Amino acid sequence: MAKPIVAIVGRPNVGKSTFFNQIGKKRVSIVEDFPGVTRDRIYMDAEWLNHQFTMIDTGGIELENDGEGKILASMRQQARLAIEEADVIVFMVDGRTGLTHDDEEIAHILRNTRKPVIVAVNKIDSPKQHMDVFEFYNLGLGDPIGISAANALNVGDLLDEIVKNFPKDLDDDIEHDEIRIAVIGRPNVGKSSLVNALLGQERVIVSDVAGTTRDAIDTQFEDGDTHFTLIDTAGMRRKAKIDMPVERYSVMRSLRAVDRADVVLMVLSAPEGVTEQDKKIAGYAHESGKGCIIVVNKWDLIKKDDKTSLRYTEDIRDELGFLQYAPVLYASALTKQRVHRVVDLVKYVAEQQAMRVQTSVLNQLVLDAVSINPPPSHKGKQLKIYFMTQADIKPPKFLIFVNDPELMHFSYLRFLENRLRESFGFEGTPLKLIVRGRK
Ligand code: GDP
Ligand code: GDP
Repeated sequence: MAKPIVAIVGRPNVGKSTFFNQIGKKRVSIVEDFPGVTRDRIYMDAEWLNHQFTMIDTGGIELENDGEGKILASMRQQARLAIEEADVIVFMVDGRTGLTHDDEEIAHILRNTRKPVIVAVNKIDSPKQHMDVFEFYNLGLGDPIGISAANALNVGDLLDEIVKNFPKDLDDDIEHDEIRIAVIGRPNVGKSSLVNALLGQERVIVSDVAGTTRDAIDTQFEDGDTHFTLIDTAGMRRKAKIDMPVERYSVMRSLRAVDRADVVLMVLSAPEGVTEQDKKIAGYAHESGKGCIIVVNKWDLIKKDDKTSLRYTEDIRDELGFLQYAPVLYASALTKQRVHRVVDLVKYVAEQQAMRVQTSVLNQLVLDAVSINPPPSHKGKQLKIYFMTQADIKPPKFLIFVNDPELMHFSYLRFLENRLRESFGFEGTPLKLIVRGRK
């Protein structure tokens, strides 16, 4: 399901990250927290009144600029990025400082979009200060909402307003008996070459259909009787329309593509390996519960001996620790080496994602697990696992009912997850393990 994207723009120090963190606290669904994934993030999945959305702090994306008028240049880019990619834009200003020239410049850009823009006047810490909000009517962007991100005042009102502005038909045209593939990775790793190599292999290309996002063109093809849709991450075939370093720009494109995909092909370039940007996007795919295959492209450029791929795999497992389950494919879009394996692997991962395990089988697994490795205890109280059941697929989600969730240790959850994988595979898919207490 495609989730709306909300972008926060604004000058430095108006309180964007403070607001971002407040939303984080309001997040309802808590699954496993994987270390290393959640730190330093520029995006966050949030939920408000049953609406799920992805919040992006455009200030956290390091945009390049050329020194002069640094802040303003970077804010202009933030605004353009938001206009291109977000469904709702929150323009945050500082009620204590009052309206500044930079704010007006940004408003000027934002007034030229038809996307909803909500002005949030932050640092309105008490009702006394409410008068400070009015000045921001001058921005010409509608009714400003006064909030205090630090004290969580009116943050709910702002969220209500955000949710009200979500597009209504985001996932109307998504067909469900098909496998949707997003090909993601940094510029120049070979994504378009790989896509062309894939599509060049005597596959029936059904049609180019307009995707859910305004300007994405998806490609459908068939293999046997399986339907596939390759989600366009634009820039793949078109040049980015806005003047912005392609690398930063590609982040939002990729997040959007991941949202719409069943299986993500994370493309790396063999000579370059894994970068920070790769980690962030892979982390997003992981947290979104998508299937994932790591394609190490340009394998033709690597001098190999019999241990090269083994060493490579170890490095990748080190760098992308949370993606232990993702198969790694060494390929070359240029020589077509192993390109023919991609589609079968995608099918396989999609099946793994949709696998259901019967409750009786799961409980045998729990019994075995507990006898090998007794559950942890704390202050004389031991964790008891009553039973486990699979609540969902894509990704497989397991509910574990226990006497006291506080007693469940992260390492024990890991152990259970490993047991599940040893017994059933679940290759290429993250698993959600959710612990529930029972009175
Ligand atoms: P960002 O650069 O826009 O992400 O701003 P930050 O979130 O880092 O906040 C900048 C400063 O403003 C920090 O010192 C915050 O503590 C402060 N701040 C943020 N929200 C509020 C608020 O609601 N009221 C007040 N008084 N200060 C705030
Ligand atoms: P994208 O920006 O990720 O879509 O990357 P492109 O598909 O445009 O490829 C970037 C460059 O890498 C081009 O010059 C390609 O010819 C080259 N390239 C792509 N795949 C391979 C490969 O498997 N081996 C080699 N040697 N070069 C490749």
